[in-house]
Amino acid sequence: MPLSEFQLIARYFESLAPASPEHGVVLGIGDDAAILQLPPGEDLLVSIDTLVSGVHFPPTLSPRAIGHRALAVNLSDLAAMGARPLWFTLALTLPDANEAWLAAFAEGLGTLARSSGIALVGGDTTRGPLSITIQVHGAVARGTALRRDGARPGDDLWVTGRPGLSALGLRRLQAGVPDEDPACAVFVWPEPRLAFGRALVGLATAAIDVSDGLLADAGHIAERSGCAIEIEATRLPLAEGLAALGREDALALCLAGGDDYELCFTAPPSAAPSVDAAAARLGLPCRRIGRVTEGHGARCAGYSPPTTGFQHFGGSTDA
Ligand SMILES: [Mg+2]
Repeated sequence: MPLSEFQLIARYFESLAPASPEHGVVLGIGDDAAILQLPPGEDLLVSIDTLVSGVHFPPTLSPRAIGHRALAVNLSDLAAMGARPLWFTLALTLPDANEAWLAAFAEGLGTLARSSGIALVGGDTTRGPLSITIQVHGAVARGTALRRDGARPGDDLWVTGRPGLSALGLRRLQAGVPDEDPACAVFVWPEPRLAFGRALVGLATAAIDVSDGLLADAGHIAERSGCAIEIEATRLPLAEGLAALGREDALALCLAGGDDYELCFTAPPSAAPSVDAAAARLGLPCRRIGRVTEGHGARCAGYSPPTTGFQHFGGSTDA
C-alpha cells in the first residue's frame, strides 16, 4: 500500500494512541516497535482474534459496527480473565482505502477503545479482502487471573445477560432488518463485561466468555477443570424475544446460539451473595443456572444439541 494511503489510515487512528506514562506507553506508534511498561506486581495477558468479512460478520454490517465488534470480541477475552485492558495492536486488510469507510470504522473502534481505557500502540495495513486482526494486552494482580481450569464439584454455574439474544439479532439481520435496529443490537454491538469480570476476581473459580454458545463454552470449563457441568433449563434467563419463539427454538438459541460475549463462570455457593451484589452494583443481570459435579462434559437435561450444528457468524475457536 503506498505511503500516502498508510498516512491516511494512520490519521484516523492517531487519536486512539495516547503515548502517556499513565497508560504505561513509553513509546507508541511511529517507531519500529512500541515500548510498554507493565505495572509492577501484575501479570500480562495477551489474546488475539481475526474477524473476516462474510465469515465472522455479515458483509452488510456497517463499518462503525465492524470497528466496535472487532475490538469488543477481543476485550471480552480480557473480561473473561478478570483483566484490566491496557494496549492493543491492529492489523487491517482492506480492499481499498475508502475514507468514509475508514472514518466510520475508526469511530466505532475508537468509541469503545476510549470507554474501555485501552490504547492503540501499533498496527499494520495491507490490501486484500476485508479482515481485521486485533491483539489485546491486559493486566491483573499477579496470580489472580480467572482461568477455565478452577471449577470444582459443588460450585454453582452462573451466566450474565440474556444468552441467545445475539443469535436472534443475527437471525433478524440476515432477514434484512437494518443493523441500527434495536432488534439486532445485541449481535451488532456486543458489550464486553470488563467491570464485572474484574469484580469476579477472588470470587469465581473459573470463567469463560460465551462465544461458541453457552453449552459449548460451559463444556470448555468442564474439560479444563476435569469435572462435569449440569445446566438446569428452567433456570435459563430466556429473554422475552426468545420465549416468544417456543421452548425448543428458544433453548437452542440460548444454549447454542453463540456470539453472546456474556460471562459464564463458576463460584462456590458461599460467594453467591457477593456475586449478586457485584451484579446489582453494575446493573448487569446475572443468574445461577446450574452446578458443577463429578464427571465430565456439560449438559442440559431436556435439550439435545442438533447433530448438524448451529450456523452463526462467530464460531471462533479462540483459546
Ligand atoms: Mg473467549
